Amino acid sequence: MSHRGVPSGGVDLRNVRRPGWRDNRRGAEIHGPEWAHCPDGRGRHARAGIDGDGAVREQGADRHVAVAAGDLTGRVLAEERVACEPDGYASDLALASSIWERINPGVGPLRHVGLGLPAPVVNNVVRSAAIFPGWEGVDAAEATAEVFDAPAQVENDANLGALAEHREGQARGHSAAVFVKIASGVGAGIIINNELFHGVDGTAGEIGHLTVDEQGPMCRCGSRGCLETYTSSEHLLRLLGSQLPGATFREVVVAAGEGNLAARRVIEDAGLRLGWALATVLNLLNPGVVILGGAAAQAGDLLLEPTRSGLRRHALDSVAETPIVASELGGRAGLVGAVHLAAERTDLVTS
Ligand SMILES: [Zn+2]
Repeated sequence: MSHRGVPSGGVDLRNVRRPGWRDNRRGAEIHGPEWAHCPDGRGRHARAGIDGDGAVREQGADRHVAVAAGDLTGRVLAEERVACEPDGYASDLALASSIWERINPGVGPLRHVGLGLPAPVVNNVVRSAAIFPGWEGVDAAEATAEVFDAPAQVENDANLGALAEHREGQARGHSAAVFVKIASGVGAGIIINNELFHGVDGTAGEIGHLTVDEQGPMCRCGSRGCLETYTSSEHLLRLLGSQLPGATFREVVVAAGEGNLAARRVIEDAGLRLGWALATVLNLLNPGVVILGGAAAQAGDLLLEPTRSGLRRHALDSVAETPIVASELGGRAGLVGAVHLAAERTDLVTS
């Protein structure tokens, strides 16, 4: 993919710990190449995207704001992620704006913002305070546009993950694909005919609330036995509360890799349930590939193998061997997708 030389940007508000990111509340870390200047002189306009993740883990809030800048192709040129305390949308956006000011190359006006939020987004609004406190009831696109003084688009962060994987990750070349984000919650982004599928109200892809056991535990959505109650990183950490007290998901994965039987068991059980739920999704949609992202991407084959087993057990033969792979973009998928969202929604007519 050629670099057309027009900078853009993205912002990510997240609560998920990621390996490699400094985990200091006041820490900031810059990843990615330095700003690339365009030899053709077209790099005079910037784009920004915001992607957020805000559920609260039992061990406490673990939230980040991340901002990236990219070009018209959606390529990320620079990004920065900062840990923060959950303090409402205005605070999150102010932090995002300050990060943008640091990484903005100053080569032109910001033209578009892509925003991702870790919750179902209906007409730009997060409805549930339980899922993403501090943003409920707010017109997120309007609030973002006001802070950044540029048009803004909002997507669920699993949708952004799907967009990123389709444009430059594991779903490249597949007209239909499913991206499943497993973190403190479980959600999916669906690509159909090379575009995101939103459903009527924008809430398609809530795979985390497929029922896999009618008598199962109560879910935060009010139903019982949802996939999320068996597969979220939250659930796994809770199950391991006595064996690996206080462990992060990453530490559980490491323990499993070193042979810890309890850690291996809970990841395997989660994979089997996930495969079961994916069988339903694949029977319906017949995607070319399923990509696991979020914390799940860290587990690799420890999670992928039982997921494939669960799928084979419950899916039609025609879809039972659909590739299930880990995200190459990992924890950056939402942020990368936010930049693509911003780039693709930008009005290309320039003054
Ligand atoms: Zn549920």
